[in-house]
Parts: sequence; C-alpha cells; structure tokens
Amino acid sequence: MKHVVILGAGFAGLELATRLSETLPDEVRTTLIDKNESFSFGFSKLDVLFGHKTVSDIQLHYDEISHEGVDFRRERVTAIDPESRHVTTDGGSYDADILVVALGAEYDFAATPGFADGGVEYYSVAGADRMREVVTSFDSGRILIGILGHPFKCPPAPFEGALLLHDHFVERGVRDAVEIRVAGPMSAPVPITQEMSQRILGALTERGIEYLPNHHLTALDTDKKEVLLESGGSIPYDLFVGIPVHRVPEVVSHAGLAVDGWVPVERTNLATRFPDVYAVGDITALPMAKAGVFAEAAARVVADDIAARLHGAELEHPYEGAGMCYLEFGSGAVGKVEANFLGGPKPTARLVGPSRELAADKEMFAATRRDRWFG
Ligand SMILES: Cc1cc2nc3c(=O)[nH]c(=O)nc-3n(C[C@H](O)[C@H](O)[C@H](O)COP(=O)(O)OP(=O)(O)OC[C@H]3O[C@@H](n4cnc5c(N)ncnc54)[C@H](O)[C@@H]3O)c2cc1C
Repeated sequence: MKHVVILGAGFAGLELATRLSETLPDEVRTTLIDKNESFSFGFSKLDVLFGHKTVSDIQLHYDEISHEGVDFRRERVTAIDPESRHVTTDGGSYDADILVVALGAEYDFAATPGFADGGVEYYSVAGADRMREVVTSFDSGRILIGILGHPFKCPPAPFEGALLLHDHFVERGVRDAVEIRVAGPMSAPVPITQEMSQRILGALTERGIEYLPNHHLTALDTDKKEVLLESGGSIPYDLFVGIPVHRVPEVVSHAGLAVDGWVPVERTNLATRFPDVYAVGDITALPMAKAGVFAEAAARVVADDIAARLHGAELEHPYEGAGMCYLEFGSGAVGKVEANFLGGPKPTARLVGPSRELAADKEMFAATRRDRWFG
C-alpha cells in the first residue's frame, strides 16, 4: 500500500481523499490532515453574513468522513520537508510515499495597516458572523468594499457581496441612505472576459453601485475614515469591507515550496518540482481564478495521475483549469459562470443566467458535495 498524505481538507483535499478511496482502495491508504474540525463552502459565508444560516448550520464535520482507507487527523501542520516528504504536525509526524499539499490560501490582514481594527470582512466564517452584526445596525452612510490584493478567492465574490448588501438595505427600507461602492486593482470586475465584466457592471449600475477600477488600496486611516491609495489619493468611508490580501500559509513558505508567493506546479498534473509531491487548489501559482470548483477538478486530476503512475500508464485527461461556479445577483437570482483557463490559447468564461432556477442548481451543487465527501 502506498501512503498518500494530504495536507488540508478543503475543496481539494476532500475531493482527492474521496476519489482515491473510490479508485485505489487496495493500493493506497490516505491520511487527510486539517487543523479545523469542520469544512464549510466558501459561498456559505454569504449565508452567515445575511443571517440566512448560522455558523453551526454551515459546518460539515470531518468526524463524519467514513471513506474506506482514509484516516482523518485533526492536527495543525507545523513543518513540511518536500525533499523527504516528511510532515510534522502538532500531534505527530508522517512519512508519505506521495505528498499532496492542499492548504489553500490564507489572509494577511497585517498587509493592510488599519484593516484589522478599522474594517470588517466576510471572507472568513468568523468575519462574516461579525460583519452580520455590524451591517444589521448600519442605517446610513458610505460602504466601501475594497479589494486589497490580487489574486483573491472567487473573483465574483466582492461583487456578490455588493449586490446582496443592496438587497439587504432595500429590505430594511434604508437603501436610499446607504452608498455602496466597490474599489479594486482590476481594470474590470472579471478582467478575463469583457462580456462577463459588462454583465456584472450592468447589474451594479442598475442598483446604483459604483465600481472604481485600477484602485490600489494600501492602508486605512481609521481616524479620518479614509482608505489610502497607492496613487496618493484617498476614498472616504463610514463602513469599510475588505477583501483581504491572500498568501500561502506560512508553513508552505517555510518549506520552500512557494516561488513569488505561490506554489509552481506542472499545468497538466499539478506536480511540484519535488518528486512525488503535488500541490493543488488555491495554493498554486497557476494563472487562473482561485475557486473551489477548480480546486476540486484539479484534485481529480491528481488522483488520476497517482493511479496512472501506479499502473505504469499515462494520465489520460490533463488538467484544463475548467469548471463552473455560481454568482449571486441578488433578489434570489443566481448566474452560472463556465470557465476554462488552461485548455485553450487563452482563458474563456461565459455567464449563463441569472435566474431563480440556477439558485436551485447551486443548492444541488452543495448537496452533492456534502453527500459525496461526508455521506
Ligand atoms: C466569500 C467566498 C465565496 C466563495 N464562493 C465560491 C463559489 O461560489 N464557488 C467556488 O468554487 N468557490 C468559491 N469560493 C472559493 C473557495 O472557497 C476556495 O477557492 C476553495 O475553498 C479552495 O479550496 P482549497 O482546497 O484550495 O483550499 P481550502 O478550501 O481553503 O482548504 C484548505 C484547508 O487547509 C487547512 N489548513 C491551512 N493551513 C493548515 C495547517 N497549517 N495545518 C492544517 N490544516 C491547514 C484549512 O483549515 C483548510 O481546511 C468562495 C470563497 C469565499 C471566501
């Protein structure tokens, strides 16, 4: 039996462990390690933010995983030696025949001075829960959603936040007293496709929300309630909502796996430069959006690559960076984005909807993963 050690039980780690159990039950035993006791979908943070669900509603507990050959350990990874594939945690140590690093992206709040004390965020579960209270008691003034760095998870999520905030204030009858703006470094909401950017800009404009492109936000002056810009100017706010700067977890940078901030991998099979070490999901340097659907698709390719190598075969379907994800447009309508980043000469993306039927599709998407990974 080969011992596969997967670090991180997010979208990538959960799908990989599940697929290895399905396809290689007699050839592989898997140890899946995560510091948390539960997983939650990225998009469920929006449910917490707007009070549709509580934090405990969205938690899927790892102790329910019952795949054959998969051993889940709730431990924090403290050191990785990619040369020897030796992993140290706060609960023990592991030697892997095949090591898969799927530790995701974490947030660097300190990279934006003033943000931790003077802003709110909904990119973490705890942050979304805190922001819910702040938003509920916000009746009038200027809300600025500031994208503080690039790349960041789920490119449409800042705009979903803006559209759903609009709904929230309409429902409370105070929308006229609230200004909502989004500012970020990108030239358009989703620069890879003009058509999708236009659709998002159209939805924002219809609701009186402005997008300020090419704005590099560097710090918050919390006394003056202004965000400072790299260009020297500033933007005033009453409530600052930040999309934090993202980075690889510290344990990954200490391991020497990252180059220029992210982990380089082969496009086709997600292999790192270290033999028998893969990296998968948000942690990689691949030129594509960071989203769960892509992490999941990449995990399937890694499982297939492991199987092909064990059987002395070639990987049949190389990774294409393809997938579809959902985009909340507000008023119960959901759009579906179908993207392919690596399969052709340039990335493509197409927006289907928005419609109420797609909201049901999104529910189904979550339910199938819940059953598959935790069933
Ligand atoms: C508001 C919001 C909305 C989103 N909406 C969507 C959407 O609609 N569709 C979509 O596809 N994606 C969406 N995403 C993005 C999606 O959540 C991520 O891209 C996805 O989770 C990445 O998967 P991953 O497996 O690479 O990393 P993660 O899912 O982040 O998993 C990494 C795991 O590693 C663990 N970990 C980290 N460090 C350690 C350590 N030292 N020791 C042990 N464990 C550790 C973490 O606990 C975590 O469980 C959204 C994200 C946000 C924030």
